[in-house]
Formats: sequence, C-alpha cells, structure tokens
Amino acid sequence: MKIGIVGFGAAAIGFINEIKNTDNDITILERSKDIFSSSISGIRSDGKIFISSSMGGDIDIPPVIQKNVVNFYIDKLSESDKKNIKAGTSFNKKSKFFDKFYSKGFEPVNADFWHIGTDQLGSVLKNIFDELSSKKNINFLFNKKVTDIIVKEDSTIDVMLDENEKMNFDYVVVAAGRSGHKLVKKIAVNYPDLVLSNNIVDIGIRYELPDHLVEELNEEMYEFKVRLKTKTGYKVRTFCNNPSGFVVEEEYDDFVTVNGHSNSKVFSDNTNFAVLCSTSFTHPFNDPFGYGSYISKLANILAGGRKVLLQTYSDFLESKRTKKLGRVKPTLNDKKLSLGDINLALPRRIGISLTEFIEKLGEVVPGIAYPDNLLYAIEVKFYSNKLNNEKFRNFKFIGDCSGHTRSIVYATSHGKIIGRKLL
Ligand SMILES: Cc1cc2nc3c(=O)[nH]c(=O)nc-3n(C[C@H](O)[C@H](O)[C@H](O)COP(=O)(O)OP(=O)(O)OC[C@H]3O[C@@H](n4cnc5c(N)ncnc54)[C@H](O)[C@@H]3O)c2cc1C
Repeated sequence: MKIGIVGFGAAAIGFINEIKNTDNDITILERSKDIFSSSISGIRSDGKIFISSSMGGDIDIPPVIQKNVVNFYIDKLSESDKKNIKAGTSFNKKSKFFDKFYSKGFEPVNADFWHIGTDQLGSVLKNIFDELSSKKNINFLFNKKVTDIIVKEDSTIDVMLDENEKMNFDYVVVAAGRSGHKLVKKIAVNYPDLVLSNNIVDIGIRYELPDHLVEELNEEMYEFKVRLKTKTGYKVRTFCNNPSGFVVEEEYDDFVTVNGHSNSKVFSDNTNFAVLCSTSFTHPFNDPFGYGSYISKLANILAGGRKVLLQTYSDFLESKRTKKLGRVKPTLNDKKLSLGDINLALPRRIGISLTEFIEKLGEVVPGIAYPDNLLYAIEVKFYSNKLNNEKFRNFKFIGDCSGHTRSIVYATSHGKIIGRKLL
C-alpha cells in the first residue's frame, strides 16, 4: 500500500514508528528544506516532555504509552547528553506548595516532566531521521508544501503540492501541526463535515522574572502548572515555565508573538512562563484564529512593526507606557521588542483576568508580583479545529492539526494509536 504522510513532526514520528517494519511504501512530504529547519515547535525548541492525564490533549492516552514515548525521545540522546536532562514533578501531593496554591483557589496540575533543552533537540531529531531514512520503504521528500488533499471516487487520495505537482496514495495521514492550519482550512472547505468544533483560543502574556525569586519552585518541580477560575469567569493558567531560560519571538506570516524556551547548557539569570487566559465563544463567532491574530497584530502595530510589546508589571497595573526598565533585564533581543502599554492591545476582560491571576500568584510566592518583573505581549495558543477522524477510512489527521493534541507526548502517542489501528 502507498502511504503518504504530510509533515514530519511529533505525530508523524509516532505514526511512522508503528508502521516502519511493514512492506508498505511510505512517503513523507515535509514543506521545510530539512528536518531541522521546519516550523518551530516543541521538538525543535525547548523539548519539555511530560506525562499527564489532564493536559497535553483531549484524547485518553494510557500512562504506559506516554511513558514509552518519553523513553523513546530520551533514548535518542547519548549517555553524556542524558545527564543534562532535568526532571521534575509538578504538584506531587506531598509538595509543600500544593496546599499553598490550593488555599488561594488555584488548581495545581499534576505532571511528570523531563526537559531535553533546545540545544540537544538537534541530535534527537537527527538520530530519529537517520534510522527512518535508512529503511528502504521510507522516502523523505523535503521542500514539498502540500496545498490540498482530495479523496477520489476510486477512494485513492490525491495530494496536491505547490507548483501544480500531484501525488496519489492509498492512505494519507495529515500531521501538519498547528503551522499547517492553512492546509486544514483548505481541506475543510471541500469536506465541511470534517470540522466538529472551533471556538477556543488562549491569549495572554509571557512573564519574566529573576531566577532567585522562584528558585524553590523551579528546584522542586522544574515546571509549575496551576489554573485559576478568575472573577471574570475566565480560566487563567501558567504554561511552559523555563528556569534560566530565554524569551523568544514566534513568527507567523503576518504577525509575531512571544514564546519561551531553555537550553541544557547555556543559561540566563531569568525564569519565564506564559500566563494564558482561555477564551471560548458561541454562535455566531467562528474565527478563533482571526481573533488571536488581530490582537497579536494590534500589539505589533503598537510596537512599531514585527515586534512585541514589553512592559513592567507596575506599569501594566497602572496602564502606563513603560519608558524605563527596573532591575530585571529582558532576555529577548531588544531589536525584537518595544517598550509600551500592553493594556492598549488586550481586551479588558482578559487584562483583568491576568492581573487577578498574577496578584494571587504573588500571595503564594511574593516575588512573582514584584513591580519590575516583565510582561511581553502577545502570547497566543491557537487550537486547531477538532476534526472528525471517522469520516474517511483511509484519510486521517494526527497530532495538533487534528485538534485533539497540544503536546509532544500526546501528538506522538496519537500518531502511534492511528498507526496501530492501520496495522
Ligand atoms: C515554540 C513552541 C514550543 C513548544 N514547546 C513544547 C514543549 O516544550 N513540550 C511540549 O510537549 N509541547 C511543546 N509545544 C507543542 C508541541 O510542539 C506540539 O504539540 C507538537 O509538536 C505537535 O506535533 P505535530 O506533529 O502535530 O506538529 P509539529 O511537530 O508542529 O509538526 C508539523 C510538521 O508539519 C509540517 N507542515 C506544516 N504544514 C505543512 C504543509 N502544508 N505541507 C507539508 N508539511 C507541512 C511542519 O513544517 C512541521 O514539520 C511547543 C510548541 C511551540 C510552537
């Protein structure tokens, strides 16, 4: 059977590993020029892998599969690189922080973490690629951007590529991640009943503060995950904590947002994490991507171009443009940011929710709400449309583009599960 896979990310890796030892003819179509330069995601930046039943996706992945996936990635490192991995558990019930957060109304989220680090992900990817590409039945094609997919009357599938090229397969999985949203949107035009729902987007900021203020939290958990239902009714959460890490820009075609990562060997003196507000709308709203991108673009306009806004926490509270920073030195390159007032970009309800959340964090760990800590805007997490994987027998969506996963482990596991079903 001829199998086509669109995109080579976490989900594709899980899928291919299940079917690699069959006599199927497997072709991977990746739009980037090689495995290292494809769109930025957790297997190319940061590489924090975790086991959790309450985050990372909305499908049930048994812990044993999640653990297998964690071991799979860690085993791709050399013995000496494995020693650089930092591990931790967010909110073990015995943690002294559990009650402190709980008593302030937070929901502490339990998860086990292993942090590989941006600087070590290249060798993980190379080892995976070398093993798969050495197989006779696996063919990697780079610089192949898929633009549309059509299920033909004879049930075979045409995959359309840039420059009017076309390939035909018996079975296709789309594993294009969130960066493949344009492709998924295009496919959904032809098959509207594939889309089950689409109304969520998480909007917020990246918060940065000196390591020493959160040292105890970082040492115990590496990543602390808490959620809070704020007075506005919105749920706010911490996400992607990076001890001694760096704030980075996240590039989209027509706007930029902010993100964070950390390495295993090169460190800063700051910790950064996202504070995100989950928004979900009802009829007639149907464009969460549009909503998130407009707010991000507004922040870019205020920052004078393809830049993000930076503000101190005290100026954010007082709705004043920041003109001078205090003791905290930003880790994001200053060419990529402008000092400004984030309140001019954030909808009021989101701004109020974020403030309540940070103030409450400060009641548990006082340094978190110090006036000269930094906020970068906008950080946004887009959720792909949830897609119906039962519509076609031989045409499936795996990983983040399916709308059912949001992490390396869940996306890889989803690929494995669909691969096993195919077998
Ligand atoms: C900056 C960043 C950091 C993150 N850090 C973490 C983390 O530390 N831990 C964690 O668990 N999760 C993290 N995530 C989330 C995680 O990366 C994703 O959940 C996971 O990678 C999803 O896997 P995927 O295979 O669905 O998509 P991806 O891994 O994004 O792979 C999709 C692939 O498809 C290709 N592609 C897209 N469109 C097309 C097209 N039209 N034609 C051909 N190829 C295409 C892309 O180039 C890419 O290679 C992070 C995400 C981002 C953006």
